[in-house]
Order: sequence, then C-alpha cells, then structure tokens
Amino acid sequence: MNSQAGSLSLDDRPARQDERSPPHDFIARARAAAAVAATHAENVDREARFPREAIEAIRAERLFGLLVPTRLGGEGARPADVVDICYVLGGACASSAMVFAMHQVKLACLTRHAHGVVWQEQLQRRIATEQLLMASSTTEGAAGGNIRSSEAAVQTSGSRIALDRNASVISYGEHADGIVTTARRSEDAGPSDQVLVALLKDNYTLERTQGWDTLGMRGTCSQGYRLRAEGDAAQVLPEAYERIHSQTMAPVAHLFWSSAWSGIAAGAVQRARSFVRKAARASGGQMPPAAAHLTRARVQLETLRSAVQSGLRTFEAHSSDPNGLDPVNLQLAMNFLKVEASELALTVVMSAMRACGLAGYRNDGEFTMGRYLRDILSAPIMINNDRILANAEGSVLMSDPPAGLSQT
Ligand SMILES: Cc1cc2nc3c(=O)[nH]c(=O)nc-3n(C[C@H](O)[C@H](O)[C@H](O)COP(=O)(O)OP(=O)(O)OC[C@H]3O[C@@H](n4cnc5c(N)ncnc54)[C@H](O)[C@@H]3O)c2cc1C
Repeated sequence: MNSQAGSLSLDDRPARQDERSPPHDFIARARAAAAVAATHAENVDREARFPREAIEAIRAERLFGLLVPTRLGGEGARPADVVDICYVLGGACASSAMVFAMHQVKLACLTRHAHGVVWQEQLQRRIATEQLLMASSTTEGAAGGNIRSSEAAVQTSGSRIALDRNASVISYGEHADGIVTTARRSEDAGPSDQVLVALLKDNYTLERTQGWDTLGMRGTCSQGYRLRAEGDAAQVLPEAYERIHSQTMAPVAHLFWSSAWSGIAAGAVQRARSFVRKAARASGGQMPPAAAHLTRARVQLETLRSAVQSGLRTFEAHSSDPNGLDPVNLQLAMNFLKVEASELALTVVMSAMRACGLAGYRNDGEFTMGRYLRDILSAPIMINNDRILANAEGSVLMSDPPAGLSQT
C-alpha cells in the first residue's frame, strides 16, 4: 500500500485520520441513523415508499458529505468509512442503505474527477454544507443495462448545455437534490464517447415514464423518467467518462453496493441466530437441527466479508494513482467483487431462511425472512452479473491468474 492509501481523492492531498474535522465517529452516527431506518423499514417496504425518516436521520448525522475534502467543508472520509456505514445501514433497511451507497458512489466520482473546476467544487461544498442527496442516471431506454453506452447527447450552445434523456431507472429521482448522469459527449459522438454531468434540481424536470412495483428494494423508488435538463457547460465533468468509469464509478459502486448487501446478509444472519437461540432455549439448551444452516450462513457471511475487505484493500492500494486501477487484473478483481458479493449475499440469506424454516418463510412473525430475501434478489441484476461476466471473458483469456496470495 502506498503512502496515499485510504484517500478517495485524486484531486486533493489525502486527508489523514488526524486531518479530518471532528467528529469522526462514523459508526456511531451510522448506528443512530440505522435505528431510525429499522423502525420504518417494514412500512417503507410495504408501501414501496421513499425511506424519508431514515434519509432525514442520515442527513441529521451529516453523513451525506463525508467524502468531500475538508478544504471544501466535508470530512475527507475514506472509502473504508463509507463501506462500514453501508454495512450498518444494510442490516436495518436495505433501501436506505442502497440510497446512501448510490449517493456516495456519485460523490466519489465528483470528488475524484472535478480537477479544480469551480462549479464542481462549489457543488461539493454545497453537498457537504447543505447535505444534498445526489441520484444516479446511467440506465437508458428499454435495454439500458450497458452503462458504457449512451443514447442522449449533451447539446452545447456557447457556455450552455442541454440534455433530453430517456432515463428508464433513477432511484429516488423525485426525492434527490440533484442527478449525476452519463451522456454522449456531443451530437456527433459515438455511444461510448461519454461524459458525466452533474445536475441540480433547478436544472431539470422529470416526467415519470415507469413505476417501481418490484419484489424488493421497494423503498429505492427507482422509477423511470424523461429527464430534460439545461445548465452550464462547467457541469460536465472535465474528464472522459471512460476514465471516471474505470478509476472510480465501477470499482466504488461494486465496493459500496457489496457493503450494503453484506449488511442485508448480516441482518438475516442475526435474525436466524435469534430464532435458533429461542429454539435451543425451548428445548432445554439442545441445538435444533436448523442450527447447521445458521452455522453455514455464518461461514458464508465471513467469506463475503473477506471478499469486500479484499476489494477495499485493492482499491485503497491503487486508487490514489490516476491510472492505478488500469491493470486488467485489478479491473477483473473489482468487477468480480460485485459478481461474487451479490451471489454470496443471496446464499447467506437463503441459508438464514432455511435456519428459520417455516418461521422464516412466513411473511408475518418476528423471524420472517421475506424482506431480506426480496431485497437481496436485486443484487445479481443491479448491473447484471451475466453482462459483467460476458464483458470479462476477453480479459480473463488475456491475463494470467494471480501469481501469489498476499499482494493486492
Ligand atoms: C434496486 C435497483 C436500483 C437501481 N437504481 C438505478 C439508478 O439509480 N440509476 C440507474 O441508472 N439505474 C439503476 N438501476 C438499473 C441498473 O443500473 C441496471 O441497469 C439494471 O439492473 C439492469 O438490469 P437488467 O437485468 O435488465 O440488465 P441488462 O444488462 O440489460 O440485462 C437484461 C438481460 O440480458 C442478459 N444479458 C445482458 N447482457 C448479457 C450478456 N452480455 N451476456 C449474457 N446475458 C446478458 C441478462 O442476464 C438479463 O437477463 C437499478 C437497478 C436496481 C435493481
């Protein structure tokens, strides 16, 4: 790990722990927000409504701006801090955790690739001081899972830009203070010649085109919209999206999402543990047969935790170098983290459900696993694992397997 390990910022000198402004008690603050999220999680899921109480609690704990550098009013936090918070929130309310994770992914892109553009830095300052919530738009049109291809183009006229986009999925679009969106660079650019554009609420209108009545992650309210925007040319990030994608967007999304999914899995294990404990007490201390499934769930959770920790170490070790994450083996490692974590998290929740048996299968009762299971089913399709694996086929052929175990 080099001397800048732990910093999320390419633009700024990294903040060391002692340079961050107090309070740094991220876990305690996350737990306070998670307690609120847990109280409302069932209702959020049932009503498929935005988890407004949890988001207000996250805001009250001032967790939205934590990645913003200290010189711009943020806390200069490390990705490790965000990872922990996603995990804590995930155990309480999956939708709240995913909203938080998606916001932080966008913030990571903004903080690492603004390169001193005044408008962009002012935005970061506002996110930190006003605790703005940023949404993400990458999915476009009917078959929009290919994040590295855009249809709508930025139209530039002098210092002004405009965008008209069929944004078929934007989580919490109506509840966000801004949207960070991919787009084709210009009318004559190819689909993969993309940029990233930061928009604030008064830059755009949203016309709803699709609802969000899903199995799980219902509180993310990931409706489809026609997004029409106008703004300043400085709202386009100065670096090509291709680089933002490989250096930040993809690795950080995979890291933060995996952390939220790990939190969901841990929540399911905790519930299964309560079930087995109760069953053991009822039979005079004798372990029920279902205990074996709980043990298996715990083994799988530890494997999942190791995978996320390894992904975090890889990112920390290489991300402060502007091209640090370019090597094929590192790209593969960060992409496979997403695939592996999403599948493992689902396996954990399944094992936890089997530990609870019928009590877990029921939709009512204190040991129901329904919400955990429905929420975690989103993980393999949120950027579809099949697509990630198919895209990796060429790189897998080109690169040798790792030569050792101890290096990241
Ligand atoms: C909870 C949640 C929140 C989301 N929030 C947002 C958001 O805020 N903003 C946003 O822009 N998007 C969001 N999305 C959408 C997400 O980014 C993806 O676009 C979406 O999950 C893709 O789903 P898909 O399975 O239809 O993908 P696609 O990749 O389009 O795949 C469709 C089908 O084709 C198959 N497939 C695709 N490519 C291949 C291939 N190369 N080889 C083999 N099979 C293939 C897949 O298995 C799948 O069956 C969200 C999704 C979820 C689940």
